[in-house]
Amino acid sequence: MVYSNSVEATHPPTSSSTSPSTEDDAPVVIVGAGIVGLVLALALHKQLGITPIIYEKCSQFQPIGAGMSVYPNGLRVLRDLGLLKTVQNASYPYTTRQWERHDGSVIMTAQEEVLGRNEDDTTPLRTVGIKRWKLQIILLSAVQSKGIPIHFGKAIQEVRENKSSNGTVNVQLSDGTQRDASLVLAADGTNSVVRKYVTEIESQNHPLKHAGTTTLMGLASIPRNDRISIVTSLTSQCHAVFFPVSSTEQCFQFHFPMTKETSDCDESWATMTKTVEQEQCQELAQRLTKDGWDEQYIRPLRSVSQAIQINSCLLDQKLEKWVRGNVVLLGDAAHPPVPFTGQGAQQGLEDAGTLALLLRALCCSTRGKLDVQHMSQALKLYEQIRIPRVNELLDLSQLTGDQRRKRSQSARYAEVREEIIQRQVFFHETSSNMLPGATHDYRKAIEKAFKALPQRMPILIEDDEDEE
Ligand SMILES: Cc1cc2nc3c(=O)[nH]c(=O)nc-3n(C[C@H](O)[C@H](O)[C@H](O)COP(=O)(O)OP(=O)(O)OC[C@H]3O[C@@H](n4cnc5c(N)ncnc54)[C@H](O)[C@@H]3O)c2cc1C
Repeated sequence: MVYSNSVEATHPPTSSSTSPSTEDDAPVVIVGAGIVGLVLALALHKQLGITPIIYEKCSQFQPIGAGMSVYPNGLRVLRDLGLLKTVQNASYPYTTRQWERHDGSVIMTAQEEVLGRNEDDTTPLRTVGIKRWKLQIILLSAVQSKGIPIHFGKAIQEVRENKSSNGTVNVQLSDGTQRDASLVLAADGTNSVVRKYVTEIESQNHPLKHAGTTTLMGLASIPRNDRISIVTSLTSQCHAVFFPVSSTEQCFQFHFPMTKETSDCDESWATMTKTVEQEQCQELAQRLTKDGWDEQYIRPLRSVSQAIQINSCLLDQKLEKWVRGNVVLLGDAAHPPVPFTGQGAQQGLEDAGTLALLLRALCCSTRGKLDVQHMSQALKLYEQIRIPRVNELLDLSQLTGDQRRKRSQSARYAEVREEIIQRQVFFHETSSNMLPGATHDYRKAIEKAFKALPQRMPILIEDDEDEE
């Protein structure tokens, strides 16, 4: 792939050896070993040959969380890291997407392959459902196999401009130590501490607000066919989603409007004790039985193996900048999501893939070394490409959530929307809310941004061999 840009000659990486730097030499710090932090580490290693250092607040990974969808736009990033087959083998593909009512009646069915249509993909990509924990293990194993160091149990407490050492940033760790970094990449989630430094807003939690929905999400060992179902209920006034995560397990999500602020955004993804998890699921199962839900939707609640409560919190105002100097925000740290189009994690994956390719194109003349000369141009482009894209998808996700909520509250609205869904599937072959997210190719967006620059200069980014 050839990109054009306006900067002085920056050559493509010249050597194919990765020559990983030692930990002490490593100039790049990643904050957070969530899905985005791990993908970013792999992308930097693959695209630039550099070995970042990852700091993770948790002392170890726990099998928490439930399931998630990985859409074709996210799969494109994983494919470019050589992880597509591994992820596909650990997940379950969707063949159809179906809109249903709580009594089991069907509103409309669409073929999921529509979301994977992209002329540049040699093999069309199909959305998959996967346990979040499994995806995290795949990424962690890949990171460890590259020798990328992860320091568990070490939280970044503060980031400071380093006045004594030009161009570096100082990070303060929870164990009382500190270190300098040439680049700090913050994937520290919805409650990011680094966001405070980037936005220069003092109060940490002030910018977060409840999105108005609370979600009960869980896994059950009940096989589900290859269909993702979106279900609305006028009797329970809620909406739900069911999708397979393996041939024997499924994930469910029940979304309820939040009547009052029950928690303070400190924990958006709250794990529950086994007792609370069972109580909540059994209680909901009883309520749904009374409300006339079809048994297929109630069974997973009765057989729940693991559940999580999502208190969706959004930033009060979307961020206008994700970069301050050499400190960059990615993933939920930059854009906390709402869980209605499945694009939250995909946008973080696109952030990671985009940033790594921009740094490779503009800041890497020798593999394994980061050339800081054009760093600000690379980071400016990162913001220009990513902020409008993410904002559009955040709005679309909120709109989708609002439409489903209203369908569960007004019979008249439900009737009108159902007709719109049927028309959209007829004309677009699926819901038009799903297309902008899934069909996007992050590489194309970079290419477009380079082409739009006033002066053109070819920069070669070769497609590497698939490592699988
Ligand atoms: C516990 C949990 C469970 C989840 N379960 C699901 C699920 O079942 N389904 C789903 O679709 N999505 C789930 N998500 C959300 C989903 O993983 C994210 O929305 C998406 O993957 C983007 O991830 P991220 O890496 O940007 O943020 P996150 O996944 O939130 O990861 C951020 C990481 O940074 C670490 N961290 C935070 N602060 C610091 C600090 N100061 N220093 C160092 N490290 C820090 C956190 O411990 C975490 O590992 C879950 C998130 C969490 C945190």
